[in-house]
Amino acid sequence: MKIGLLCRNPDLYSHRRIVEAAEARGHEIDIIDHLRCYIDIAANDPEVHYRGESLTGYDAIIPRIGASVTFFGTAVLRQFEMMDVYPLNESVAISRSRDKLRSMQLLSREGVGLPVTVFAHRTSHADEVIRLAGGTPVIIKLLEGTQGIGVVLAETDKSAESIIQAFGGVKTDVLVQQFVEEAKGEDIRCLVVGEKVVASMIRRGKEGDFRSNLHRGGSAEAVRISREERATALKAANAMGLNVCGVDMLRSDNGPVVMEVNSSPGLEGVEKATNVDVAGKIIEFIEKNARVGRTQTKGGKSRRRARRRA
Ligand code: ADP
Ligand code: MG
Repeated sequence: MKIGLLCRNPDLYSHRRIVEAAEARGHEIDIIDHLRCYIDIAANDPEVHYRGESLTGYDAIIPRIGASVTFFGTAVLRQFEMMDVYPLNESVAISRSRDKLRSMQLLSREGVGLPVTVFAHRTSHADEVIRLAGGTPVIIKLLEGTQGIGVVLAETDKSAESIIQAFGGVKTDVLVQQFVEEAKGEDIRCLVVGEKVVASMIRRGKEGDFRSNLHRGGSAEAVRISREERATALKAANAMGLNVCGVDMLRSDNGPVVMEVNSSPGLEGVEKATNVDVAGKIIEFIEKNARVGRTQTKGGKSRRRARRRA
């Protein structure tokens, strides 16, 4: 197969591993920097231009779009979808996953366990919002934060109110969430590929930090997950419409609660903690699924589907 890896930095561990895994399985894989692509929308046949050439002949695209460039990156991916190229994750699913509120609404509709979460635009009634979230301590989150930046723990009503007002002052929407204290600064990340959880790790925050993000100095190790946790991860991936994702959950007194679903999960932490060849499993998944998309192309079926999806 001919695979395109949409990413900005080819030297990142995850991207190196994906290239390695694809080549080891006999595929051709090209790195395409999505920010250097031009999208030709007016042409009869949708095209993506890159370094003076039109990109053609791809069987699948692996999107690894950074959160700060979601808008343009998903537009490039969508253009490939218009060209009937199989996307490992669809552009619309990636956009969904980048908005924490939208994600939680979808997860909640599917009955996935979530921490009590309140979203409000007006900040004049911060006390009411805090009360609805179960009272302090509460977690306050930016809608589009990543890597633990933009997640704040407010221990008292006074600090929670002033944080909510501060974000309101700079016109930034936030989620206010029940603090799952019993998780003790640990969370579980399940790597989902297709219909399977292929690897799971437990992440622990740096001493004194309630955030378990590896980017914030947390550590990780392999963990055995319960049946309920496995089912929750798969349900969450399904609700988001993501084939490959990292589902993050907390072990609460009421069972697993999902915090977020990451559509471009980093591979370094999870592969090193679990010794699972996640990159290989991703390529294997594409081998099984991209061909199906290609045979459907003949009747023009999948192009119609792509239009509906957008
Ligand atoms: P980000 O997208 O920045 O990673 P998350 O929502 O995943 O934001 O939160 C970052 C970390 O903060 C989580 O991995 C978890 O350890 C901790 N955390 C987030 N929400 C809660 C919560 N409601 N209760 C307890 N800890 C939380
Ligand atoms: Mg997170």
